[in-house]
Amino acid sequence: MSSNPVIIKVSGPLVVADHMAEAKMYEVVRVGAEGLIGEVIRLEDGKASIQVYEETAGIGPGEPVNLTGRTLSVELGPGLLESIYDGIQRPLKVLEDKSGHYLARGIDADGLDQSKKWDFKATAKAGDTVAGGDTLGTVQETSLIEHRVMVPADITEGKIESITSGSYNVTETIAKIKDQDGKVHEVMMRQFWSIRIPRTIKAKRVPDTPLKTGCRSIDMFFPLTKGGAACIPGPFGSGKTVTQQTLAKYCDAEVIVYIGCGERGNEMTEVLNEFPHLIDPNSGEPLMKRTIMIANTSNMPVAAREASVYTGITIAEYYRDMGYNVALMADSTSRWAEAMREISGRLEEMPGEEGYPAYLGSKTAEFYERAGAVECLGNEGRLGSLTVIGAVSPPGGDLSEPVSQNTLRVTKTYWGLDKKLSYQRHFPAINWLKSYSLYTPNIEQFHLENTAGDYWEVRSTALNLLQEEAKLDEIVRLVGSDALSVREKLVLLVSKSIREDYLYQDSFDTYDAFTVPVKQYQMLKTIVALYTEGLNIVDNEDMDFTVLETHEILSKIAKVKLIDAEDTQDFEALRGEIKDLMASLA
Ligand code: ADP
Repeated sequence: MSSNPVIIKVSGPLVVADHMAEAKMYEVVRVGAEGLIGEVIRLEDGKASIQVYEETAGIGPGEPVNLTGRTLSVELGPGLLESIYDGIQRPLKVLEDKSGHYLARGIDADGLDQSKKWDFKATAKAGDTVAGGDTLGTVQETSLIEHRVMVPADITEGKIESITSGSYNVTETIAKIKDQDGKVHEVMMRQFWSIRIPRTIKAKRVPDTPLKTGCRSIDMFFPLTKGGAACIPGPFGSGKTVTQQTLAKYCDAEVIVYIGCGERGNEMTEVLNEFPHLIDPNSGEPLMKRTIMIANTSNMPVAAREASVYTGITIAEYYRDMGYNVALMADSTSRWAEAMREISGRLEEMPGEEGYPAYLGSKTAEFYERAGAVECLGNEGRLGSLTVIGAVSPPGGDLSEPVSQNTLRVTKTYWGLDKKLSYQRHFPAINWLKSYSLYTPNIEQFHLENTAGDYWEVRSTALNLLQEEAKLDEIVRLVGSDALSVREKLVLLVSKSIREDYLYQDSFDTYDAFTVPVKQYQMLKTIVALYTEGLNIVDNEDMDFTVLETHEILSKIAKVKLIDAEDTQDFEALRGEIKDLMASLA
């Protein structure tokens, strides 16, 4: 009897093989006569359970399995930006060129173009002592991003024997480094990293700088930091994809990694068609010049979806390690969790809540913990950050389900998208009563120093008004608005303006889609002035409130978003008018 590794069972994306004593956990193997790409996820008594990243139909017992000795890794180096990959870093373009729209199986495709020449400029020199993470040189990867070629993390210390600027492809040696044991490492512009292991850093820092998204609801009320983690749950059609894409387009991260796991195939196709045409509003260049996309269309096997989030986050960490602020969007992580559930079911593991594996919580936590503001490896004191924004699509919008719950436990910002708001076409449909951010203490100082001394006061007055509005709405529904005092009527009037003139923001309107923080503050301060100045009139219970409700000042406030950020005097003038009006009504 042969003792070569051989398939004994095929169950969807899971293959069981015998004679696998030589294999290691998480080793990549080639499965069947076609050499499908798989990963060992369980080893027991010489039998291996293999998660296969390609369609397994037609593969059967008796076919061979070949070990590769490698773990599932990404190839890191110049050429990642502008790429669109499948879940295991095969460029979709290359796959399509090789096999057409219906993916053929067992196709090998390098993550990086191996023939492309890059202009490498050495910044280190022969004789320098270097260690993992130190910069050897740079490559202008795209017009927007300079790629830093770093010493691989596994070289703890060594001396550069040779290094030369010039034109190289990613597999040519750019430097030779002799380590302390006398071993000479030939360093190329590419390096590999196992996707399931976080990349090495020097230290984590407390994230203390806001990620500027330009979205008023987010930046002002439910902010995220550079290096933070956010969760966007919302039912179908509530705006998860639009929000993620708007953030990808406008947020002030330098590099974007977008992982798309579509609910339906055509949804992902839309993203794939649209994204390459988006223009970066800051530079006027195509957004792809600072973006990497990982796409899981619905015709792709479920296991590739499981791997895709790790592939994406490892690439994101690589750019973070160069000292960039990176933002990763995963849309939607519910599909990732479902992939985990399917594989776990086929492994016949003991199911946890709703059939998800018991380790759903720890896997989710491990994923979001890869976010952070960091001190990068290397001696240059580079600081980088990786912000992770995960969309969740709970069935029926019910947040008590396991994926939402586990995500909420580990993310500090929660933007709850609301079906009712999206029906009313109030966008972004972020529910201001339910959403929260635990990062506000981290960025308190930032806004006091950079935006305004009364920044937090203005914010909390506005939030309180919105909360009071919700209570008053209830009263109005029960007994009508006549029962309200003048102050309560004022609360309703100002809250309406906060919702309609401030929170409502159309992502497709190029002027309105992005508001700089200082303008966000000026806008909100002006609207809130209607309340603070209006407090002068509330003792006048006899006043005719319709005078205020129909006053032309309200239409001026409705246009406050049209005032440019630098025209501070225009905001002040409007606040002056509000003050005068209220004084006249008192
Ligand atoms: P989901 O991903 O939650 O299923 P989408 O992101 O596809 O939902 O949004 C559904 C629709 O809602 C969009 O096609 C768009 O018309 C509208 N929409 C969502 N968010 C916004 C926004 N911020 N500005 C304008 N329209 C929006």
